[in-house]
Amino acid sequence: MTKPLSIAIVGAGMGGLAAAATLRQVGIDVQVYEQARQFARIGAGIQMLPNSSRVLRHIGIEQKLRKTAFEPYSHLNRVWDTGEVKRELPMPESLFGAPFLCMHRGDLHEALLANIPQEIVHLNKKLVGLDQRNGKVTLSFADGTTAQADAAIGADGVHSLVREIIVGPDAPIHKGRIAYRAVFDTKLMGGKTIAPSRAKWWGPDRHIVIYYTRADRSEVYFVTSVPEPANWITKESWSAKGDVKELRAAYEGFHPEVMSVLNACPDCHKWAILEREPLPKWSDGRVALLGDACHPMTPYMAQGAATSIEDAAVLARCLAAVESDDVERAFKMYEATRKPRTSRIQAISSANTWMSGGEEDTSWLYGYDAMNVPLVEPARQ
Ligand code: FAD
Repeated sequence: MTKPLSIAIVGAGMGGLAAAATLRQVGIDVQVYEQARQFARIGAGIQMLPNSSRVLRHIGIEQKLRKTAFEPYSHLNRVWDTGEVKRELPMPESLFGAPFLCMHRGDLHEALLANIPQEIVHLNKKLVGLDQRNGKVTLSFADGTTAQADAAIGADGVHSLVREIIVGPDAPIHKGRIAYRAVFDTKLMGGKTIAPSRAKWWGPDRHIVIYYTRADRSEVYFVTSVPEPANWITKESWSAKGDVKELRAAYEGFHPEVMSVLNACPDCHKWAILEREPLPKWSDGRVALLGDACHPMTPYMAQGAATSIEDAAVLARCLAAVESDDVERAFKMYEATRKPRTSRIQAISSANTWMSGGEEDTSWLYGYDAMNVPLVEPARQ
């Protein structure tokens, strides 16, 4: 029997862990290298729309998530002060064949992590270098150790070193906007409730998205987008704190339902909204990118993690479709299949127009089936 293809994944975020699961499903020997010493439970919610929950079903964690996640009635868009409904899309499971789930980000990460053998996840392995030679990729880590594999996947997020190595250095685009976010106990709202939907409140130059993250509605989450004159930016984005008084002032005059959430919120985090133009290439030889490392986007369509999870499903199918020594062709097929879709989502997400009114088609986004979409042969060089 020939030895299975070995792949090193850099980064144990949503995309890296999803890829570990899908690649293992097609018989690949996977090892995951993560810079963190331990996983922290990041205080944030996350929406899994049907296009990504379909993949979560395929890798076997849907039922686990459904036990705790909140299933919103609809995708609800309202005017910031009057509360008038601009567009509402009820999201029963029957509409796109998979559920719309809102959950704590930590619950999704835990479920993805628990789904793979723990011994393949190596913590405290900060990648510092990559070298491709004789059909092998050697990874070097900050602790002085190295690892070797037949190929590598950079799932190392928006500040990806793998991207820098294979595409070249540049900086993500920061358009002078930041997001405040908080997840907190609903009890702090003193009996007030919010709509059982994922509600986006559209203001003239800012918005806020609010939803429950638990089936029993015991936790509420919001995430905003507001202009930030000082061009505030941080690399340690997930842990930076914001000032809750500044946040409330920024939303003064918003509908009472919004203010009841902001007034109850005990503290908040602040995060610079970063994006990037579509990259000229997604792979170089035996190294490919996935998720935020290759198509970071604003969170306005809730598709950053979702597209990373879709990437994982398509990447595994491409690798399964070629002979094991033809990894480079599989990576080109993966890019040809995925890039038109992720570039389209990046552009709409950047413009922040999704579901802002009108009746535009949503089936291309939420009805996408990463396990069955036709794979696209790469153009001949
Ligand atoms: P990440 O999750 O960033 O993971 C990258 C991993 O790589 C990290 O664990 C990091 O420590 C590790 N790493 C980095 N460098 C190295 C290195 N040199 N060596 C080893 N390891 C390294 N998306 C949705 O789909 N739905 C939502 O509702 C949603 N809401 C969001 C709300 C907010 C406030 C934000 C900020 C984002 C939101 N997103 C959402 C987007 C989503 O969080 C990201 O798109 C997603 O986390 C990308 O996953 P990833 O695996 O590509 O990268």
